[in-house]
Amino acid sequence: MHIPAELAIQADADLKEYNTLGVPSRARYLTTVDSTALLTQALRFAQEAKLAVLVLGQGSNTVLTRDFDGLVIHNQLRGVEVLAETASHIELRVAAGENWHQFVTRAVNQQWFGVENLALIPGLVGAAPIQNIGAYGAEVKDVITAVEYLDRTTLATQTLSNDACQFAYRDSIFKNALCDATVITAVQFRLNKRATLNLGYPALADEAGEQPSLASVYDAVCRIRTQKLPDPAEIPNAGSFFKNPLVTAEHHQRLKSQFPGLVSFATGEGYKLAAGWLIDQAGWKDKEVAGVRVHQQQALVVINPAIRSGADVMALAAAIQQDIARIYNVQLEVEPRIY
Ligand SMILES: Cc1cc2nc3c(=O)[nH]c(=O)nc-3n(C[C@H](O)[C@H](O)[C@H](O)COP(=O)(O)OP(=O)(O)OC[C@H]3O[C@@H](n4cnc5c(N)ncnc54)[C@H](O)[C@@H]3O)c2cc1C
Repeated sequence: MHIPAELAIQADADLKEYNTLGVPSRARYLTTVDSTALLTQALRFAQEAKLAVLVLGQGSNTVLTRDFDGLVIHNQLRGVEVLAETASHIELRVAAGENWHQFVTRAVNQQWFGVENLALIPGLVGAAPIQNIGAYGAEVKDVITAVEYLDRTTLATQTLSNDACQFAYRDSIFKNALCDATVITAVQFRLNKRATLNLGYPALADEAGEQPSLASVYDAVCRIRTQKLPDPAEIPNAGSFFKNPLVTAEHHQRLKSQFPGLVSFATGEGYKLAAGWLIDQAGWKDKEVAGVRVHQQQALVVINPAIRSGADVMALAAAIQQDIARIYNVQLEVEPRIY
């Protein structure tokens, strides 16, 4: 097999640094790409060598449960470009390898509104549309105008409009019809130059002060997140491990009469239950299975301080899922991608 020298491919690569759960896993091959030309070459190499491909950004929403017998592509495409600007809006094209939080910080410093509620979410820009990242009442779909990607089979460049991305709660076409079929190369955003704060989330409104500004909202989000969520650099984790489950109105009614403190909110399709509340009430905080723990303050966060395997992480997740199904008759869906 011919391995192109430009790809600087590492064989039998350690992936511990490429996933925030820190699970030990190895890749048959690993390459870091910083241009679309290199990315295309990497995909072509994988095709010719009949290798499976796994694209990783920061690995903050990924659980590696085994060694990867293929090519891992670490996305480091960089650059931010202004596509258009009017008195009220700015349109930007941000390369997929840009750090998400640095992009948010830059937007806030420029007085561009729309991404401040999403500050401090780990990961790279290219992964943001995949699960339609969201926090504090905002979702990235509200500011994305288009997503650019390379088709992993045809190697053709494609651009999908916001509508075509089929964004939903922690979901998009990139987790469904186009799952593992693309490499996102850039995301296009439309940000507001006029003040439009999203303070629908009560805890954020309280923290942002009496005269909230773009900077005070950004600071408030950073403060709340730093207090509430473990920093993966200190305690390995992948953020919220389960999605908030959706139940019917009847199911919600039954649960509410049995568990009056149930935390839930109505949606167009039924009721969303706070997965963290269900797990907390089931007594899982600070519990351990196979050396992997539930965080002592955040029942939704699985932590891996003892650096156990991805299979051990999933053993804890399965035990929680079984318990929640038994107590509440609710199926919890894992949020990170499992490989
Ligand atoms: C402490 C913590 C807090 C978090 N808080 C939140 C939160 O508030 N809200 C939220 O929504 N998420 C949250 N997350 C999850 C995570 O930060 C996001 O999902 C983030 O977008 C993942 O980015 P990443 O670069 O690390 O993706 P990775 O984990 O590297 O990749 C995730 C998936 O996307 C694929 N992928 C990555 N890049 C590309 C690309 N360029 N093209 C094609 N496929 C690609 C991967 O193959 C994988 O399937 C949190 C995670 C942690 C650790």
